[in-house]
Amino acid sequence: MAGLYLHIPFCKQACYYCDFHFSTNQQQTEQLVQAICHELTIQKEYLGGEALDTVYFGGGTPSLLAFEQITLLMTAIKDSFAVTATPEVTLEANPDDLTTEKLKELRAAGINRLSIGIQSFDDSILQFFNRAHNAAQAEKCIRDAHLLGFTNISLDLIFGAPHQTLQSLERDLSRFIDFAPKHISAYSLTIEEKTVFGHQLKNGTFPVLSEGQLAEQFKYVMKRLEEAGYEQYEISNFCRPGYYSKHNTSYWQQKKYLGVGPSAHSYDGQSRQWNVANNHLYMRSLAQGTVPFEREVLSRTNQINEYFFTTLRTRWGTDLTFLQRFFDFTPDPQKIDLLQQQGLIQIENERLTLTRPGKLLADKIALEFFIDEG
Ligand code: SF4
Repeated sequence: MAGLYLHIPFCKQACYYCDFHFSTNQQQTEQLVQAICHELTIQKEYLGGEALDTVYFGGGTPSLLAFEQITLLMTAIKDSFAVTATPEVTLEANPDDLTTEKLKELRAAGINRLSIGIQSFDDSILQFFNRAHNAAQAEKCIRDAHLLGFTNISLDLIFGAPHQTLQSLERDLSRFIDFAPKHISAYSLTIEEKTVFGHQLKNGTFPVLSEGQLAEQFKYVMKRLEEAGYEQYEISNFCRPGYYSKHNTSYWQQKKYLGVGPSAHSYDGQSRQWNVANNHLYMRSLAQGTVPFEREVLSRTNQINEYFFTTLRTRWGTDLTFLQRFFDFTPDPQKIDLLQQQGLIQIENERLTLTRPGKLLADKIALEFFIDEG
């Protein structure tokens, strides 16, 4: 079984922290959708006949698409790929798009999971981020989505804004928990170079929180969500029992996926490829019948390093038996001993997982296990 990702590269306005690929010029949405439909037919052999059990509309802002555009894409998917009987079909949505009419349309189009970009219920934080919605819209769309029968809803939260305190974070988390979503993705604000915040940081006008303050907030998020009955199944992802994001979990479990649309990434078990991150070049190339991508065949070293990087972040951890069996690789026992003594990792049933303190250093710990080429 495999996954399909569709990148919809349009947004109403640029959030100041965001470095995803998108354009605020929506005039070519129709042509872009046609180009993605074309790419779906060209790429129909990519997954080697495996049936899709997850479809994910990401972006950008897929909730900007009209009903007809989503149904066109859904039809193109079914025309080119086998799909399991009950696929998880997720659409990322922003609260200002989710009118009751839009929610009904999304249901009718076959979307059965919503990932809503709430980020905060604090208007001062939303304005600071330059989000297009406010807290009242956020609250209304969640209520409406529940009323209209969406039972599998994920809400995004960003913590670590410069003026955020543990008290304001608690107010936010309480609101998130009150709405009882099945899934919450909680990310620390990270400052990327080519964003408004990145420029502010460079010229010294962005007042970042210290690493210690960010760590305190992350610890608070983990504790509060766990107490509320959410399982942290990946560093940034929390869910009610059984409500993992099947799509994202498949990335972390090395399953195959195809990504279509500008900037989308794909993985076929041996190589990764990524489409050009430029709407104009993407459409021009598809008009000539070619998918514009670059490809990298993964070496054994790449595969081992990626395996550490993705699996260590999850509750299932890194399977040492798998590493031995598939890569004939055993991690350095001295490193393992040291990290265990520091209380950052634990091993049970040949699976290496992060402890709570280790979760604060996930990427650094994964880097400890990385091996060099050659
Ligand atoms: S709506 Fe989402 S994709 Fe668009 S700019 Fe904001 S965070 Fe980025």
